[in-house]
Amino acid sequence: MWPWGHVAVAYLLYTASVSRRSDLSVAPLAVLALAVGSQAPDLVDKPFAWTFDVLPGGRTLAHSIFFAALVLATAYAVARRVDRVEPAAAFGFGYVSHLVADVPPSVLTGDLSGTEYFLWPLLEVPPEEPVAGILDAFLNYYAIGTYEWVQLGLFAVAAVVWYRDGTPGLEWIDRLPGRPTDR
Ligand SMILES: [Zn+2]
Repeated sequence: MWPWGHVAVAYLLYTASVSRRSDLSVAPLAVLALAVGSQAPDLVDKPFAWTFDVLPGGRTLAHSIFFAALVLATAYAVARRVDRVEPAAAFGFGYVSHLVADVPPSVLTGDLSGTEYFLWPLLEVPPEEPVAGILDAFLNYYAIGTYEWVQLGLFAVAAVVWYRDGTPGLEWIDRLPGRPTDR
């Protein structure tokens, strides 16, 4: 799945789960943490596999449940210390949603190939086409098909839902250094 598909899946699932708990709304910092978590496995594995040639594939270390458990436990421990459990939970939610969203659609037909990354390194991942980075992957391998249209559609739906939620997280971007303020 491409980055925009991941962020859309994470946001739609997260906002649905939050709105089920009537005492909570989508918190701004949590949305940013969710967005980072939804990309985190690829931000680790893709550069280390494609650019630095350290990992054997773009879905290996950070896509495995073992590494995920370590990351999530660490994030939770740190979050408790600084009293920021909600953003840590959102980060973990985004991270896990990424792993689930990477499951190939062929699984619906009972074909489990492509899901080996969950148990890497106990299971080997299938060999990949050589790529020089995410931009190279996009330029050379992005072909618009049903799966890609679904991801673009999900992104459009997520953008509308995010807007209707009040664009949570946008106020944090406005506070970044160098941004003009209304003071
Ligand atoms: Zn991935």
